[in-house]
Amino acid sequence: MEFEAWWLLIPLGCFALGWFAARVDIRYVLRDARALPSAYFRGLNFLLREQHDKAVESFVDVSRRDPHALDLQLALGSLFRRQGRVGEATSIHQSLVDRHDLPKEKRELALFELAQDFHSAGLFDRAENVYEQLTGSAYEAEAVTKLASVLEQEKAWTKAIAARKRIQRLSGEPQGRFIAQYHCELAELALAANDQKQVQSQLADALESNRNSARVPLIAFRAAMKADDQPAALAALQELQRTRSELTVLITDGIVGLFERLGKPQEAVEQLAAAQNEVSTSLGLSRLVDASMIIEGRDEALVRLTRALRSQPSAREVARLLELESDQHEAKAAGTMKDVAQLLRNATEKTPGFHCGHCGFRAPRYYWKCPGCNEWESFRATPLGQ
Ligand SMILES: [Zn+2]
Repeated sequence: MEFEAWWLLIPLGCFALGWFAARVDIRYVLRDARALPSAYFRGLNFLLREQHDKAVESFVDVSRRDPHALDLQLALGSLFRRQGRVGEATSIHQSLVDRHDLPKEKRELALFELAQDFHSAGLFDRAENVYEQLTGSAYEAEAVTKLASVLEQEKAWTKAIAARKRIQRLSGEPQGRFIAQYHCELAELALAANDQKQVQSQLADALESNRNSARVPLIAFRAAMKADDQPAALAALQELQRTRSELTVLITDGIVGLFERLGKPQEAVEQLAAAQNEVSTSLGLSRLVDASMIIEGRDEALVRLTRALRSQPSAREVARLLELESDQHEAKAAGTMKDVAQLLRNATEKTPGFHCGHCGFRAPRYYWKCPGCNEWESFRATPLGQ
């Protein structure tokens, strides 16, 4: 009887042991769960104290235990980069890329983030290398777009052309206007090196990508002038007038030189006046008056200037008018006119010749790619009076 009673205690004991084991397990789980956020804060503290290695160790520890922590880490890394703390962002992303237990898509995302860290830090060759590693990944299209911008910054035009062609293939978005600009960059380099054959070949490729490129006739004009090929220069000038006549201000001296060589200097003034009639720009008027002064003389230049100012007043050009007119007056009046002209000049001294139609950046020279917003072909000759 006693023996049987002892047996009855066994299931009770097992139940107690199971209950105890379960309690221990729950406690362990709870302790672990509580440990996750604290490890996070520990990691953040290390980051704030700029102890990057220890911070990364903490984050790696957390993300091993909790797969959701991986997304948080990626978010944290990209946040650091946006704040300009590229060192911290790079540490986080590099540690993720170095891990071998990450799922493929997370590793690719970490790689894409790392490339952008290098890009932001100006480490272009490393950024280029990592963007290339994303070929065939889910991020390929975005990576190639960013790669093209790295290559532009590196002025690696041939590689940039290949990248733009890849973007076109992957996204279906036309990239002709960029490709044409890269060929024009190569043509400019060839022109500086006096390699006329290479200039023509690059310009032909540029035209193939963008029939309406205004930069192609501009370079063709300069190349023709350098080669003393007047018919080619005339043809290029006509093409520029068809595409963007306001840009004739960039080659005013060349136009005057061309028609002088052709024995028809008056024609140069007419060409500049025609461009000015189409789009009235401050710089265009200034160059037209300069050319008219030399070729037609002071009186005719004054007539042109007065006519232009009647239709569109411009303080800067009025100053010039006053200066020109002052020669016709007695000393005292001339002195006053010159003083007023100087005041007007001072007030408009910073008036630049060009501005970006995209971001409003103003500059005295023309840029094919805006230094303010990195947009291509967004620069315009500033209209008269602005
Ligand atoms: Zn801009």
